[in-house]
Amino acid sequence: MTPAAYAVLNLEAAQHNLQKVRGYAPDSKIMAVIKANGYGHGLLRIADALKSVDGFAVARVDEGVRLRRAGINGRIAVLEGFTCTEELNELLLYQLDAVVHSIQQVEIFESRNEQQQMAIWLKMDTGMNRLGFKAYEFESVYRRLKHCSIICQPINFITHLANADEKQDGTTPKQIQLFNNTIARIEPNSDFKNECSIANSAGIIAWKEALSDWVRPGIMLYGISPFPESTGKDLGLKPIMSLHSRLIAVKSLAKGDKVGYSGSWTCKKPTTLGVVAIGYGDGYPRYAKAGTPVLVNGQRVPLIGRVSMDMITVDLGSQAQAKPGDPVTLWGEDLAVEEIARCADTIPYTLVCGITQRVQIVEKSTHVDEQ
Ligand SMILES: *Cc1c(COP(=O)(O)O)cnc(C)c1O
Repeated sequence: MTPAAYAVLNLEAAQHNLQKVRGYAPDSKIMAVIKANGYGHGLLRIADALKSVDGFAVARVDEGVRLRRAGINGRIAVLEGFTCTEELNELLLYQLDAVVHSIQQVEIFESRNEQQQMAIWLKMDTGMNRLGFKAYEFESVYRRLKHCSIICQPINFITHLANADEKQDGTTPKQIQLFNNTIARIEPNSDFKNECSIANSAGIIAWKEALSDWVRPGIMLYGISPFPESTGKDLGLKPIMSLHSRLIAVKSLAKGDKVGYSGSWTCKKPTTLGVVAIGYGDGYPRYAKAGTPVLVNGQRVPLIGRVSMDMITVDLGSQAQAKPGDPVTLWGEDLAVEEIARCADTIPYTLVCGITQRVQIVEKSTHVDEQ
């Protein structure tokens, strides 16, 4: 028996998407971003599927520790760095790279004088106004860190793009220029090179000037477009995840009947209603609008009524012969998660990250379709 709600992960797609990254950034090293449980796909599963990359990036210390304990030996950068001595100890012990973005972190480094060293990424805030040092203070912070015995030299430099998904926007070139101009002044005569990293997925695809020593693809590795106006398929990417369930009831409603909580949908005509065993308790978006497409037996039908915790309702319309047990796809290769995100006023990142524990994960190679 297949479970009611399950996600099929096609891990071969990860390799395909990685090749796409290499095509865009042939001269850059690749740091695959696998934070938030590999964007909901499973941290260790994705690390394994992408083990040929040059390094990984995660958001938090515990994510990096999990990777190390699972035997991942390469470079692992922790994008939020650390906030206390205990976290720094973990970074050092597990040899995780810290992103350094605050003066508190610099002070903690200056208080340490052990033999063992660790690599860091000094972060410049070029306009995102989230983490990082402003350009005017960047060099003085760099000088302080250069004297810390715990820090492995040369120090790496990193920044993050705020608007890279907007191809007509002037922010990205300004951010890149500020970053490049600032670091060009720092070690103009040295014989070593501070390695740099700027680009996320949107930067990799849309902004050649953002390609530097290291690129940091996240969403595109999962086969999803970083741009609001396109899908992964448009970009030649393949989605790793598809989300499935099945019909559990089919019924005939009369014109005027109301469907679901608050009776938010009123049948305008006699309707064959299908009830699907998936809801926001599985991570299906609560705010998916009426009309959001759902595939029943591979055919598109519209969502009607409110999404509830365990179920959604669809107008079977053209699929009026459908019966309980028939397969349903919520997103995947034939129904872009980007389209569902638009119907729910969100971005596809939140949908794949939001799959809950209840959803059974099936790796495609082991998947036996019961139809
Ligand atoms: C999440 C993240 C990325 C990856 O972004 P995508 O849009 O998923 O490619 C890269 N860099 C930083 C600092 C991030 O937080």
